[in-house]
Amino acid sequence: MRIRTHASRRLGALAVALAVGATAVVGVAPASATTEPPPSSTADAVVGGQSARSVADDAAMKVPDDVTRRRTASGRVLILPLTDESYALTSGWGPRCIPVRGGSTFHLGLDMATPDGRPVYAVASGVVTHVVAPKNGNAGYVTIHSVIEGTPTWIAYVHPWNPGKYVRVGQKIKVGQRIADVGASGPATAPHLHLEVWENAFYGSGTSVDPATWLASYRLPVVQRATADRRSPAPTKCTYYSTTNLNLRTGPSTSYRVLATLAPNTKLTNKPGTKTNGFIPVWAVVNGTKTRGWVHTDYISQSRTYHLAYAVTVRTRPSAKASAMFVAKAGTQVSPKELSGGWRKVAISGTVGWVPKESVAPGLS
Ligand SMILES: [Zn+2]
Repeated sequence: MRIRTHASRRLGALAVALAVGATAVVGVAPASATTEPPPSSTADAVVGGQSARSVADDAAMKVPDDVTRRRTASGRVLILPLTDESYALTSGWGPRCIPVRGGSTFHLGLDMATPDGRPVYAVASGVVTHVVAPKNGNAGYVTIHSVIEGTPTWIAYVHPWNPGKYVRVGQKIKVGQRIADVGASGPATAPHLHLEVWENAFYGSGTSVDPATWLASYRLPVVQRATADRRSPAPTKCTYYSTTNLNLRTGPSTSYRVLATLAPNTKLTNKPGTKTNGFIPVWAVVNGTKTRGWVHTDYISQSRTYHLAYAVTVRTRPSAKASAMFVAKAGTQVSPKELSGGWRKVAISGTVGWVPKESVAPGLS
């Protein structure tokens, strides 16, 4: 099939859609549908099959003016998912130390920090395969499948509060279409877009690729368009502390033998990147001997942890006569500071006061 686009972009879009017989992909594009320049003469020539459809989808796109776009060798349009200079890169793809309980030790995405509610745009035209609401502490996300330069590709947009706000599974999406709002659902400390790119399958047998590298391979300047690049180099070693009496096992499940039970705040060293059944391999000193085993990541933290062994009155000064600020419950997590006599200064959710020193116990209750 031979397809030509026309000088009039609007007519061009409709002509392409009609010529391909695309299944109601395009509808009627408004006159302002696109500011995308017409395809280059090579891309404008003969296209067929899947790529014809893709180009038709692209022709009807509505990419905002302040979003960077590039055209692939076959004439497809790809864009950055956020407005230029509206985001900072905060975490890159690759091994990392587990930042929060439930976090991963291999970061499968690129984190683009930007305010809550900012629009997220589809990087490529495609079909929605997943719309997953946040649940049980897991992030919500939208995944869109595209075939890009012959490679089946899934792009996941993670952390929206309400992933079904703009899209549903099976929906055809045009590049540049608003598909979500930035949020912070699931394990996230601040609003950001966590972008994942998978080739050949989404998870399972698929291959996770570095989104920054992938975008750069299509000349999309995701680093240059960021206001800041705060990605740190991949760590080679992580340090954790046990948050409870923690079993060190010979393998990554509770069916493996227990080598030792580690006291709270035992130092654990780890090479990042491996996590199996929630377990990671660590080194710990057991009876004076450096010992290798596996621990469950629900019971570790990057810093030492402390809690109140029993309910106490938190006071303004290290004295039983000092004013009472409030009563803290047994099990409350505290950050210990200096000692004064029989008193320990502690921070409790940002508030600082004094408690009897023996009420502070290691680990989390
Ligand atoms: Zn992330």
